[in-house]
Amino acid sequence: MIKVCKFGGTSMADANAMLKVKQIIESDKTRKFIVVSAPGKRNKADIKITDVLYSCYDELLKTGSCEKNFSIIRERFVKIVEDLKLNIDINAVLDQTEKEICESKSADFAASRGEYLSAIVMSSLLGYDFIDAASMIRFDSDGNLNEDYTNDKVKSKIKGHDNAVVPGFYGKDSSGNVKTFSRGGSDITGSIIARGVKADLYENWTDVSGFLVCDPRIVPEAKVIKQLTYKELRELSYMGASVLHSEAIFPVMRERIPINIKNTFKPEDAGTMIVPSEMYNPADDSVITGIAGKKNFTVIFIEKSLMNSEVGFIRKVLSVVEHFGICVEHVPSGIDTLSVVIESGQLENGVLSDIVSEIRESVNPDYVHVIENISLIATVGHGMARRSGTAAKIFTALAEKGINIRMIDQGSSELNIIIGVANSDYENCIATIYNTFIK
Ligand code: ASP
Repeated sequence: MIKVCKFGGTSMADANAMLKVKQIIESDKTRKFIVVSAPGKRNKADIKITDVLYSCYDELLKTGSCEKNFSIIRERFVKIVEDLKLNIDINAVLDQTEKEICESKSADFAASRGEYLSAIVMSSLLGYDFIDAASMIRFDSDGNLNEDYTNDKVKSKIKGHDNAVVPGFYGKDSSGNVKTFSRGGSDITGSIIARGVKADLYENWTDVSGFLVCDPRIVPEAKVIKQLTYKELRELSYMGASVLHSEAIFPVMRERIPINIKNTFKPEDAGTMIVPSEMYNPADDSVITGIAGKKNFTVIFIEKSLMNSEVGFIRKVLSVVEHFGICVEHVPSGIDTLSVVIESGQLENGVLSDIVSEIRESVNPDYVHVIENISLIATVGHGMARRSGTAAKIFTALAEKGINIRMIDQGSSELNIIIGVANSDYENCIATIYNTFIK
Protein backbone atom coordinates (compact mmCIF):
# COMPACT_ATOMS: atom_id res chain seq x y z
CA MET A 1 0.00 0.00 0.00
CA ILE A 2 1.37 3.42 -0.98
CA LYS A 3 -0.18 6.79 -0.22
CA VAL A 4 0.98 10.06 -1.75
CA CYS A 5 0.14 13.02 0.48
CA LYS A 6 0.08 16.63 -0.61
CA PHE A 7 0.03 19.30 2.10
CA GLY A 8 -1.18 22.80 1.24
CA GLY A 9 0.04 26.23 2.32
CA THR A 10 -1.81 26.41 5.65
CA SER A 11 -0.34 23.02 6.61
CA MET A 12 3.13 24.50 5.96
CA ALA A 13 2.44 27.94 7.47
CA ASP A 14 4.61 27.59 10.60
CA ALA A 15 6.46 25.11 12.81
CA ASN A 16 3.30 24.16 14.65
CA ALA A 17 1.45 23.21 11.49
CA MET A 18 4.50 21.32 10.23
CA LEU A 19 4.59 19.30 13.44
CA LYS A 20 0.94 18.36 12.90
CA VAL A 21 1.91 17.22 9.41
CA LYS A 22 4.75 15.13 10.83
CA GLN A 23 2.35 13.47 13.27
CA ILE A 24 -0.09 12.66 10.45
CA ILE A 25 2.66 11.14 8.31
CA GLU A 26 4.16 9.14 11.15
CA SER A 27 0.77 7.73 12.17
CA ASP A 28 0.57 5.78 8.89
CA LYS A 29 3.65 4.07 7.44
CA THR A 30 2.06 3.92 3.98
CA ARG A 31 2.31 7.74 3.68
CA LYS A 32 5.57 7.45 1.78
CA PHE A 33 5.70 10.28 -0.75
CA ILE A 34 4.96 13.80 0.36
CA VAL A 35 4.37 16.86 -1.83
CA VAL A 36 4.39 20.27 -0.19
CA SER A 37 3.23 23.80 -0.94
CA ALA A 38 5.01 26.96 0.13
CA PRO A 39 4.10 28.32 3.56
CA GLY A 40 0.71 30.03 3.34
CA LYS A 41 -1.05 32.46 5.63
CA ARG A 42 -0.78 32.07 9.41
CA ASN A 43 -3.73 34.40 9.89
CA LYS A 44 -6.03 36.48 7.72
CA ALA A 45 -3.68 39.47 7.55
CA ASP A 46 -0.60 37.40 6.68
CA ILE A 47 0.95 37.12 3.19
CA LYS A 48 1.58 33.84 1.39
CA ILE A 49 5.25 33.12 0.75
CA THR A 50 4.49 32.65 -2.95
CA ASP A 51 3.08 36.19 -3.13
CA VAL A 52 6.18 37.57 -1.39
CA LEU A 53 8.33 35.74 -3.96
CA TYR A 54 6.43 37.37 -6.83
CA SER A 55 7.13 40.69 -5.09
CA CYS A 56 10.84 39.74 -4.92
CA TYR A 57 10.77 39.42 -8.69
CA ASP A 58 9.04 42.82 -9.13
CA GLU A 59 11.55 44.42 -6.76
CA LEU A 60 14.40 42.84 -8.70
CA LEU A 61 13.13 44.31 -11.97
CA LYS A 62 12.79 47.76 -10.45
CA THR A 63 15.94 47.97 -8.32
CA GLY A 64 18.28 45.17 -9.40
CA SER A 65 17.96 43.49 -6.00
CA CYS A 66 15.21 41.67 -4.07
CA GLU A 67 16.71 42.30 -0.66
CA LYS A 68 13.68 43.97 0.91
CA ASN A 69 11.12 41.31 0.07
CA PHE A 70 13.56 38.44 0.48
CA SER A 71 14.12 39.51 4.08
CA ILE A 72 10.47 38.50 4.73
CA ILE A 73 11.16 35.04 3.27
CA ARG A 74 14.34 34.78 5.32
CA GLU A 75 12.60 35.68 8.54
CA ARG A 76 9.80 33.13 7.99
CA PHE A 77 12.13 30.22 7.21
CA VAL A 78 14.72 31.02 9.86
CA LYS A 79 11.95 31.06 12.48
CA ILE A 80 10.48 27.77 11.23
CA VAL A 81 13.89 26.04 11.31
CA GLU A 82 14.68 27.45 14.77
CA ASP A 83 11.27 26.49 16.19
CA LEU A 84 11.65 22.98 14.81
CA LYS A 85 15.25 22.79 16.09
CA LEU A 86 16.40 21.35 12.77
CA ASN A 87 20.00 20.77 11.93
CA ILE A 88 20.08 22.67 8.61
CA ASP A 89 22.23 25.67 7.75
CA ILE A 90 19.14 27.55 6.59
CA ASN A 91 20.98 30.86 6.18
CA ALA A 92 23.34 29.29 3.67
CA VAL A 93 20.39 27.78 1.75
CA LEU A 94 18.63 31.16 1.78
CA ASP A 95 21.76 33.05 0.62
CA GLN A 96 22.07 30.67 -2.30
CA THR A 97 18.35 30.97 -3.11
CA GLU A 98 18.45 34.78 -3.09
CA LYS A 99 21.47 34.73 -5.39
CA GLU A 100 19.76 32.34 -7.81
CA ILE A 101 16.58 34.44 -7.88
CA CYS A 102 18.68 37.47 -8.85
CA GLU A 103 20.60 35.53 -11.50
CA SER A 104 17.60 33.78 -13.06
CA LYS A 105 15.55 36.97 -13.53
CA SER A 106 12.49 34.75 -13.88
CA ALA A 107 9.15 35.21 -12.11
CA ASP A 108 8.51 31.46 -12.27
CA PHE A 109 11.87 30.63 -10.74
CA ALA A 110 11.33 33.15 -7.92
CA ALA A 111 7.80 31.83 -7.22
CA SER A 112 8.97 28.22 -7.19
CA ARG A 113 11.40 28.77 -4.33
CA GLY A 114 8.67 28.71 -1.66
CA GLU A 115 7.89 25.07 -2.42
CA TYR A 116 11.61 24.29 -2.78
CA LEU A 117 12.41 25.67 0.69
CA SER A 118 9.35 24.02 2.27
CA ALA A 119 10.43 20.66 0.88
CA ILE A 120 13.99 21.07 2.20
CA VAL A 121 12.62 21.79 5.67
CA MET A 122 10.06 18.95 5.60
CA SER A 123 12.55 16.37 4.36
CA SER A 124 14.81 17.23 7.28
CA LEU A 125 11.92 17.17 9.77
CA LEU A 126 10.73 13.76 8.55
CA GLY A 127 14.09 12.24 7.74
CA TYR A 128 12.79 11.58 4.20
CA ASP A 129 14.84 12.03 1.01
CA PHE A 130 14.44 15.26 -0.99
CA ILE A 131 13.70 14.82 -4.71
CA ASP A 132 13.51 18.01 -6.77
CA ALA A 133 10.39 18.35 -8.94
CA ALA A 134 12.57 20.05 -11.58
CA SER A 135 14.27 16.73 -12.22
CA MET A 136 10.95 15.01 -13.02
CA ILE A 137 8.23 17.37 -14.22
CA ARG A 138 8.59 18.65 -17.77
CA PHE A 139 6.48 21.06 -19.85
CA ASP A 140 6.44 21.04 -23.66
CA SER A 141 7.17 24.03 -25.88
CA ASP A 142 3.49 25.11 -25.70
CA GLY A 143 3.72 25.23 -21.92
CA ASN A 144 1.58 22.12 -21.39
CA LEU A 145 2.63 19.29 -19.13
CA ASN A 146 4.56 16.65 -21.07
CA GLU A 147 2.72 13.78 -19.42
CA ASP A 148 4.56 10.77 -20.80
CA TYR A 149 8.05 12.18 -20.30
CA THR A 150 7.13 13.31 -16.79
CA ASN A 151 5.60 9.97 -15.85
CA ASP A 152 8.69 8.06 -17.00
CA LYS A 153 10.95 10.43 -15.08
CA VAL A 154 8.90 10.16 -11.89
CA LYS A 155 9.07 6.37 -12.10
CA SER A 156 12.82 6.28 -12.64
CA LYS A 157 13.73 9.03 -10.13
CA ILE A 158 11.59 7.69 -7.31
CA LYS A 159 12.73 4.11 -7.78
CA GLY A 160 15.14 3.26 -4.99
CA HIS A 161 13.62 5.75 -2.52
CA ASP A 162 11.47 4.29 0.26
CA ASN A 163 10.08 7.69 0.99
CA ALA A 164 10.66 11.24 -0.17
CA VAL A 165 9.49 14.84 -0.07
CA VAL A 166 8.91 16.60 -3.40
CA PRO A 167 8.27 20.34 -3.77
CA GLY A 168 4.96 21.14 -5.48
CA PHE A 169 4.02 23.74 -8.10
CA TYR A 170 6.91 23.59 -10.58
CA GLY A 171 8.91 21.65 -13.12
CA LYS A 172 11.08 22.59 -16.10
CA ASP A 173 10.16 23.92 -19.52
CA SER A 174 11.49 22.50 -22.79
CA SER A 175 14.57 24.77 -22.57
CA GLY A 176 15.41 23.55 -19.09
CA ASN A 177 14.23 26.63 -17.17
CA VAL A 178 12.05 26.36 -14.08
CA LYS A 179 8.37 26.82 -14.90
CA THR A 180 5.39 26.80 -12.55
CA PHE A 181 1.85 25.55 -12.95
CA SER A 182 -0.95 28.07 -12.43
CA ARG A 183 -1.66 29.12 -8.83
CA GLY A 184 -2.58 26.25 -6.53
CA GLY A 185 -0.64 23.90 -8.82
CA SER A 186 0.94 21.80 -6.07
CA ASP A 187 -2.28 19.77 -6.25
CA ILE A 188 -1.24 18.78 -9.78
CA THR A 189 2.26 17.82 -8.60
CA GLY A 190 0.73 15.52 -5.97
CA SER A 191 -1.41 13.88 -8.61
CA ILE A 192 1.58 13.42 -10.95
CA ILE A 193 3.59 11.72 -8.20
CA ALA A 194 0.62 9.53 -7.24
CA ARG A 195 0.31 8.38 -10.84
CA GLY A 196 4.05 7.79 -11.19
CA VAL A 197 4.32 5.56 -8.12
CA LYS A 198 0.93 3.94 -8.83
CA ALA A 199 -0.29 4.97 -5.39
CA ASP A 200 -3.33 3.31 -3.88
CA LEU A 201 -4.56 6.67 -2.63
CA TYR A 202 -3.74 10.34 -3.20
CA GLU A 203 -4.40 12.25 0.02
CA ASN A 204 -4.76 15.99 -0.43
CA TRP A 205 -4.40 17.64 2.98
CA THR A 206 -5.80 21.14 3.33
CA ASP A 207 -7.51 23.33 5.94
CA VAL A 208 -11.12 22.24 5.34
CA SER A 209 -12.70 18.82 5.86
CA GLY A 210 -13.53 18.26 2.19
CA PHE A 211 -15.82 19.66 -0.47
CA LEU A 212 -19.01 21.17 0.85
CA VAL A 213 -22.31 20.67 -0.94
CA CYS A 214 -22.33 24.41 -1.61
CA ASP A 215 -20.52 27.62 -0.67
CA PRO A 216 -20.70 28.04 3.14
CA ARG A 217 -20.85 31.81 2.70
CA ILE A 218 -24.32 31.18 1.26
CA VAL A 219 -25.41 28.23 3.41
CA PRO A 220 -23.34 28.28 6.62
CA GLU A 221 -24.49 24.79 7.65
CA ALA A 222 -23.58 23.26 4.25
CA LYS A 223 -22.67 19.58 4.68
CA VAL A 224 -19.46 17.89 3.56
CA ILE A 225 -19.73 15.76 0.42
CA LYS A 226 -18.67 12.25 1.50
CA GLN A 227 -18.13 10.84 -1.93
CA LEU A 228 -17.84 12.29 -5.41
CA THR A 229 -16.99 10.78 -8.78
CA TYR A 230 -14.22 12.18 -11.00
CA LYS A 231 -16.86 13.45 -13.41
CA GLU A 232 -18.87 15.18 -10.71
CA LEU A 233 -15.70 16.84 -9.48
CA ARG A 234 -14.97 18.17 -12.98
CA GLU A 235 -18.43 19.69 -13.19
CA LEU A 236 -18.22 21.26 -9.73
CA SER A 237 -14.71 22.64 -10.04
CA TYR A 238 -15.42 24.02 -13.50
CA MET A 239 -18.31 25.89 -11.91
CA GLY A 240 -16.20 27.41 -9.18
CA ALA A 241 -15.78 24.89 -6.34
CA SER A 242 -12.15 25.51 -5.50
CA VAL A 243 -10.82 23.08 -2.89
CA LEU A 244 -8.67 21.29 -5.47
CA HIS A 245 -6.94 22.69 -8.60
CA SER A 246 -9.25 21.90 -11.51
CA GLU A 247 -6.48 20.10 -13.45
CA ALA A 248 -5.30 17.96 -10.54
CA ILE A 249 -7.64 15.13 -11.42
CA PHE A 250 -6.10 14.17 -14.77
CA PRO A 251 -2.88 12.33 -13.76
CA VAL A 252 -4.58 10.15 -11.12
CA MET A 253 -7.52 9.50 -13.42
CA ARG A 254 -5.22 7.59 -15.77
CA GLU A 255 -4.48 5.05 -13.03
CA ARG A 256 -7.98 5.24 -11.46
CA ILE A 257 -6.45 6.34 -8.13
CA PRO A 258 -8.94 7.84 -5.66
CA ILE A 259 -8.29 11.22 -4.03
CA ASN A 260 -9.13 11.87 -0.39
CA ILE A 261 -9.45 15.52 0.64
CA LYS A 262 -8.43 15.71 4.30
CA ASN A 263 -8.07 18.42 6.95
CA THR A 264 -4.63 18.71 8.62
CA PHE A 265 -6.23 20.43 11.60
CA LYS A 266 -9.00 17.81 12.00
CA PRO A 267 -7.31 14.63 10.77
CA GLU A 268 -10.04 12.47 12.33
CA ASP A 269 -12.63 13.84 9.85
CA ALA A 270 -13.23 11.47 6.94
CA GLY A 271 -13.12 14.27 4.35
CA THR A 272 -14.27 13.81 0.78
CA MET A 273 -13.40 10.78 -1.36
CA ILE A 274 -13.14 11.44 -5.09
CA VAL A 275 -13.41 8.14 -6.90
CA PRO A 276 -13.71 6.67 -10.39
CA SER A 277 -17.33 5.68 -11.03
CA GLU A 278 -16.54 1.94 -10.69
CA MET A 279 -15.47 2.55 -7.07
CA TYR A 280 -18.50 4.64 -6.16
CA ASN A 281 -20.29 3.22 -3.13
CA PRO A 282 -24.02 3.26 -3.84
CA ALA A 283 -24.78 3.20 -0.11
CA ASP A 284 -23.80 6.88 -0.03
CA ASP A 285 -25.86 7.74 -3.05
CA SER A 286 -27.90 10.92 -2.88
CA VAL A 287 -29.77 12.73 -5.63
CA ILE A 288 -27.65 15.85 -5.44
CA THR A 289 -23.91 15.77 -4.84
CA GLY A 290 -23.14 19.46 -4.98
CA ILE A 291 -24.25 22.89 -6.12
CA ALA A 292 -21.76 25.38 -7.55
CA GLY A 293 -22.04 28.51 -9.57
CA LYS A 294 -20.49 31.61 -11.06
CA LYS A 295 -21.75 35.12 -11.60
CA ASN A 296 -21.46 37.48 -14.55
CA PHE A 297 -22.36 35.78 -17.79
CA THR A 298 -23.93 37.26 -20.89
CA VAL A 299 -26.48 35.39 -22.99
CA ILE A 300 -26.84 36.23 -26.67
CA PHE A 301 -30.30 34.96 -27.54
CA ILE A 302 -30.95 34.39 -31.25
CA GLU A 303 -34.30 33.57 -32.80
CA LYS A 304 -35.00 32.58 -36.39
CA SER A 305 -37.98 30.66 -37.76
CA LEU A 306 -36.99 27.31 -39.22
CA MET A 307 -33.47 27.67 -37.81
CA ASN A 308 -33.68 23.97 -37.09
CA SER A 309 -33.68 23.01 -40.74
CA GLU A 310 -31.02 25.47 -41.86
CA VAL A 311 -27.81 23.53 -42.40
CA GLY A 312 -24.77 25.11 -40.71
CA PHE A 313 -26.69 27.69 -38.63
CA ILE A 314 -25.04 26.89 -35.28
CA ARG A 315 -21.62 26.59 -36.89
CA LYS A 316 -21.95 30.04 -38.46
CA VAL A 317 -22.95 31.64 -35.16
CA LEU A 318 -20.13 29.93 -33.30
CA SER A 319 -17.55 30.84 -35.91
CA VAL A 320 -18.38 34.52 -35.39
CA VAL A 321 -17.58 34.09 -31.71
CA GLU A 322 -14.46 32.06 -32.51
CA HIS A 323 -13.27 34.78 -34.86
CA PHE A 324 -13.12 37.10 -31.80
CA GLY A 325 -11.02 34.49 -29.95
CA ILE A 326 -13.71 34.04 -27.33
CA CYS A 327 -14.65 30.92 -25.35
CA VAL A 328 -18.28 29.84 -25.29
CA GLU A 329 -19.54 28.31 -22.05
CA HIS A 330 -22.89 26.83 -23.13
CA VAL A 331 -25.09 26.75 -26.18
CA PRO A 332 -28.61 25.74 -25.14
CA SER A 333 -30.99 25.61 -28.10
CA GLY A 334 -34.70 25.35 -28.89
CA ILE A 335 -36.47 24.71 -32.21
CA ASP A 336 -36.19 28.28 -33.47
CA THR A 337 -33.85 29.66 -30.83
CA LEU A 338 -30.22 29.46 -29.86
CA SER A 339 -28.54 31.02 -26.84
CA VAL A 340 -24.81 31.58 -26.67
CA VAL A 341 -23.56 31.95 -23.11
CA ILE A 342 -20.24 33.77 -22.62
CA GLU A 343 -18.38 35.01 -19.55
CA SER A 344 -19.04 38.77 -19.51
CA GLY A 345 -15.39 39.69 -18.83
CA GLN A 346 -14.52 38.61 -22.39
CA LEU A 347 -17.04 40.98 -23.96
CA GLU A 348 -15.79 44.32 -22.72
CA ASN A 349 -14.66 47.31 -24.81
CA GLY A 350 -17.28 47.01 -27.53
CA VAL A 351 -16.64 43.34 -28.30
CA LEU A 352 -20.23 42.40 -27.46
CA SER A 353 -21.81 44.82 -29.95
CA ASP A 354 -19.30 43.80 -32.64
CA ILE A 355 -20.22 40.14 -32.14
CA VAL A 356 -23.95 40.88 -32.27
CA SER A 357 -23.57 42.84 -35.55
CA GLU A 358 -21.52 40.06 -37.12
CA ILE A 359 -24.08 37.46 -36.05
CA ARG A 360 -26.80 39.61 -37.68
CA GLU A 361 -24.82 39.76 -40.91
CA SER A 362 -23.81 36.13 -40.90
CA VAL A 363 -27.15 34.34 -40.21
CA ASN A 364 -29.80 37.03 -40.74
CA PRO A 365 -31.81 36.18 -37.61
CA ASP A 366 -35.39 37.40 -36.94
CA TYR A 367 -34.36 38.65 -33.54
CA VAL A 368 -31.22 38.97 -31.39
CA HIS A 369 -31.43 39.91 -27.76
CA VAL A 370 -28.65 40.29 -25.21
CA ILE A 371 -29.21 39.42 -21.55
CA GLU A 372 -26.46 40.55 -19.18
CA ASN A 373 -25.68 39.98 -15.47
CA ILE A 374 -26.63 36.33 -15.51
CA SER A 375 -25.35 33.77 -13.00
CA LEU A 376 -25.01 30.12 -13.88
CA ILE A 377 -25.74 27.56 -11.21
CA ALA A 378 -24.94 23.90 -11.66
CA THR A 379 -26.74 21.25 -9.66
CA VAL A 380 -24.54 18.17 -9.97
CA GLY A 381 -25.23 14.58 -9.03
CA HIS A 382 -24.97 11.32 -10.91
CA GLY A 383 -27.90 10.16 -8.77
CA MET A 384 -30.12 12.36 -10.96
CA ALA A 385 -29.81 10.00 -13.92
CA ARG A 386 -31.62 7.21 -12.13
CA ARG A 387 -34.46 9.24 -10.70
CA SER A 388 -37.25 11.16 -12.31
CA GLY A 389 -38.45 14.53 -11.17
CA THR A 390 -35.19 16.19 -10.10
CA ALA A 391 -35.52 19.05 -12.56
CA ALA A 392 -39.19 19.47 -11.67
CA LYS A 393 -38.30 19.68 -7.99
CA ILE A 394 -35.67 22.37 -8.62
CA PHE A 395 -37.94 24.44 -10.85
CA THR A 396 -40.93 24.20 -8.49
CA ALA A 397 -38.84 25.27 -5.50
CA LEU A 398 -37.39 28.23 -7.41
CA ALA A 399 -40.84 29.26 -8.68
CA GLU A 400 -42.18 29.21 -5.13
CA LYS A 401 -39.40 31.63 -4.15
CA GLY A 402 -40.24 33.88 -7.09
CA ILE A 403 -36.87 33.24 -8.80
CA ASN A 404 -37.13 33.65 -12.54
CA ILE A 405 -35.12 31.08 -14.52
CA ARG A 406 -33.61 32.73 -17.59
CA MET A 407 -31.95 29.70 -19.15
CA ILE A 408 -31.77 25.92 -18.70
CA ASP A 409 -29.12 23.51 -19.94
CA GLN A 410 -29.06 19.83 -19.12
CA GLY A 411 -26.36 17.78 -20.80
CA SER A 412 -27.23 14.27 -21.98
CA SER A 413 -25.06 12.79 -19.23
CA GLU A 414 -27.84 13.70 -16.77
CA LEU A 415 -25.10 14.55 -14.33
CA ASN A 416 -25.72 18.23 -14.26
CA ILE A 417 -28.58 20.70 -14.59
CA ILE A 418 -27.38 24.23 -15.28
CA ILE A 419 -29.72 27.13 -14.85
CA GLY A 420 -29.21 30.82 -15.51
CA VAL A 421 -30.71 33.38 -13.14
CA ALA A 422 -30.19 37.10 -12.58
CA ASN A 423 -27.04 37.88 -10.58
CA SER A 424 -29.27 39.33 -7.87
CA ASP A 425 -30.97 35.90 -7.42
CA TYR A 426 -27.68 33.94 -7.25
CA GLU A 427 -27.38 33.37 -3.48
CA ASN A 428 -31.11 32.82 -3.00
CA CYS A 429 -31.15 30.28 -5.83
CA ILE A 430 -28.29 28.21 -4.37
CA ALA A 431 -29.80 28.28 -0.88
CA THR A 432 -33.20 27.24 -2.25
CA ILE A 433 -31.77 24.24 -4.14
CA TYR A 434 -29.75 23.23 -1.07
CA ASN A 435 -32.78 23.40 1.19
CA THR A 436 -34.88 21.44 -1.29
CA PHE A 437 -32.57 18.43 -1.52
CA ILE A 438 -30.33 18.39 1.54
CA LYS A 439 -31.31 18.72 5.19
N1 ASP B 1 2.26 28.10 -3.59
C1 ASP B 1 1.53 28.14 -4.83
C2 ASP B 1 0.37 29.11 -4.71
O1 ASP B 1 0.25 29.81 -3.74
C3 ASP B 1 1.14 26.79 -5.30
C4 ASP B 1 0.34 25.95 -4.32
O2 ASP B 1 0.28 26.23 -3.14
O3 ASP B 1 -0.24 24.97 -4.77
O4 ASP B 1 -0.41 29.20 -5.62
